[in-house]
Amino acid sequence: MLARFVNSMPNGLSQRITKLYFQVLVRNQRNSHSEQVFHEGRAMDVKVLPALQDNYMYLIVDKATKEAAIVDPVAPETVLEAVNEQGVKLTTVLTTHHHWDHAGGNEDLVKKHPGLNVYGGDDRIGALTKKVTHNTKFNIGSLNVECLFTPCHTSGHICYYVTAPEDNVDPAVFTGDTLFLGGCGRFFEGTADQMHKALIEVLGSLPDKTKVFCGHEYSVQNLRFALKVEPNNSDTKSKYDWCTKQRAEKKPTIPSTIQ
Ligand SMILES: [Zn+2]
Repeated sequence: MLARFVNSMPNGLSQRITKLYFQVLVRNQRNSHSEQVFHEGRAMDVKVLPALQDNYMYLIVDKATKEAAIVDPVAPETVLEAVNEQGVKLTTVLTTHHHWDHAGGNEDLVKKHPGLNVYGGDDRIGALTKKVTHNTKFNIGSLNVECLFTPCHTSGHICYYVTAPEDNVDPAVFTGDTLFLGGCGRFFEGTADQMHKALIEVLGSLPDKTKVFCGHEYSVQNLRFALKVEPNNSDTKSKYDWCTKQRAEKKPTIPSTIQ
């Protein structure tokens, strides 16, 4: 509609309007949906980087070596600013799935920051250099990464379970569009049985205290739905109230835990 309207104008004017439109888009990118927040752990830090309308990217830093990975870098400029600010060495991209709002920044980021290892479980992921499957293991500095295959939202969806070298310190899982706070992703390329397995067997068997960093800020909507299903669930009600307060202050509701 906008394109047709702009195309019907004299050339100079349409060019000016197109430029303005992109400036507004870029400005919206900066006026993000949430604050950036920093989670300091004993061995691993995680910087939460909001992007687009309700996406999250995560900068994972190994404190021992200052090596870093970025999860789903859809907004490369924001990623590179955070990398500079933190003074870390970005080596790795962890892609949860091929959807553009998760993988759409990969190619641009690799152009701006050559030499990155780009992990993912689907050939449709841009700039992919390391294709992974269930239980593929690798490191970010001294941190251990284990790939968990959770097909359903997309047929190649991977969650990344990251732990410190010492057992039981700072476990975290990056769940993309498989598990959200209070809900799960849409079944675009899979079945309910696959999602049930992903949630109950694969993610559900991680330690209770594992922090969950998911792909979108959907908590309030999910919990509102949950309260329609179970209006008297006091745990859901208190989490809903807390999330609503966080969002009123533009604070993320992320992370939650497996428990
Ligand atoms: Zn998706």
